[in-house]
Amino acid sequence: MDNIPNAGEMRKTDGESSSAKVTFSIDKTKNFPDWYDRALNIGDMVDARYPVKGMYIWRPYGFKALRRMMGIMHEIMERTGHEEVYFPMLIPASIFGKERDFLKGFKGEAFVVTRAGTETLGEELFVRPTSETGMYESIKPWVRSISDLPLKIYQVVNIFRHETKQTRPMLRLREVVQFKEAHTFHATAEEADAQVQEGVAAYKEFFDRLLLPYLVVETPSWDTFAGAVYNMDLMSVMPDGKAIELGSVINLGDKFARAFGITYQANDNKQAYVHQTCYGISERELGVMLAIHGDNNGLIIPPEIAPIQVVVIPIFHKGKEETMKKGAEKVKQILVEQGFRTAMDIRDRGVGDKYYEWEARGVPVRIELGPKELESGKLILFRRDTRKKETVDAAKAPKRINELLVDITDTLRARAQEYFKGRVFHFKSVSDLKKNYKEREGMIGLPWCGDEKCGRKLEEDIGIPTVGFVHDKHLSEPCASCGKTKDMVEMFFGRTY
Ligand SMILES: [Zn+2]
Repeated sequence: MDNIPNAGEMRKTDGESSSAKVTFSIDKTKNFPDWYDRALNIGDMVDARYPVKGMYIWRPYGFKALRRMMGIMHEIMERTGHEEVYFPMLIPASIFGKERDFLKGFKGEAFVVTRAGTETLGEELFVRPTSETGMYESIKPWVRSISDLPLKIYQVVNIFRHETKQTRPMLRLREVVQFKEAHTFHATAEEADAQVQEGVAAYKEFFDRLLLPYLVVETPSWDTFAGAVYNMDLMSVMPDGKAIELGSVINLGDKFARAFGITYQANDNKQAYVHQTCYGISERELGVMLAIHGDNNGLIIPPEIAPIQVVVIPIFHKGKEETMKKGAEKVKQILVEQGFRTAMDIRDRGVGDKYYEWEARGVPVRIELGPKELESGKLILFRRDTRKKETVDAAKAPKRINELLVDITDTLRARAQEYFKGRVFHFKSVSDLKKNYKEREGMIGLPWCGDEKCGRKLEEDIGIPTVGFVHDKHLSEPCASCGKTKDMVEMFFGRTY
């Protein structure tokens, strides 16, 4: 049970006095960027005022939500046989540059330490933009014989990238605070392929528990991760219609093994290169979760992630404050004992403001307790997802709250699926698309023959980049570029974060 104190102060944006009534009033779909910034601020997730671009401060409430989300990932990693490790943040330049494609892909966005005090370092040190190189150099001695394989490890660390596009809390960062990266080592290419599928399954479970809708695609060859053979991406769509990568599962083949000399003694006594995979997720998924489930009143946090599941708000009447406080305290105590993450708000503030604030923070259930309810042994329950109220006997409240949390989970999942359905489009041809597609609504599918030339031509024709293709679903329509009809797959296009 988390020990969550009473409400504490709610943060305001600059310029709002503490007595002013807080209002939200930003339409999420029409003005998503403003909605997102406002929702994270009023919802008490992050403080965006740190004086370095792309680096944000986590507030206690937001960090609890992040911890809860990452807790699910830890649980899945451990259950699927990954062991947690930690590798250092700084990587010597000579090691960072060992795999050429990787170097090409990441050199431009890595921060580099060149000096300590006034002294210039003998060798430049790269601040990890991701950990492959430092990790693979060190792991060589861990792998000697086939009995050391498969090796499956993961770490949750901060990584740094010199992001030049517009940064946004959780979504696009220069410091990713909680990057979960898994790295696996296998004897054969087939085992690495199977591991990619296991990685995808692990991520599906994770996103399912965040109630997030997604599409699993394979990235086209011209757009794979630096140093990869291929990668599978789990893609969703944000409320502004832009596609977003939730997670990426990468087959590295033996490219890194060759660059770093990671070999094992095979059965024929010869040294063989290992085959590798890696896959990562980060706080970005919390950002997407908040963006997709929230509404025009602020955040809505799924009950499994919510740092506070229930908030008890006594309604004060003159002269009855102490009685009401005691009554609310008793309700809170019972709920805590029943295992609900519960808070109580007894600040000396208007009840309307309190309702507003707790709604903006996305707490799934609110309990309103007035003198009338206290006398008659009743409670008013308010559920955040539908904003509906009901009155229950206080004695039956824990059971009813349990039902509500399950129902809120189901409702959020169904809503998100419905929303996603309306954001993924399937067209037969470029002209079909041009006739029927409004710009920037979501992800667009077109039949594609698998030829790079056709893929690139389609990107040009419609002016939207590829996202990836669904490789196990074959289409009967001809390629939207060359008209070929054999082995057709669906290629998706979308503007991305
Ligand atoms: Zn084609």
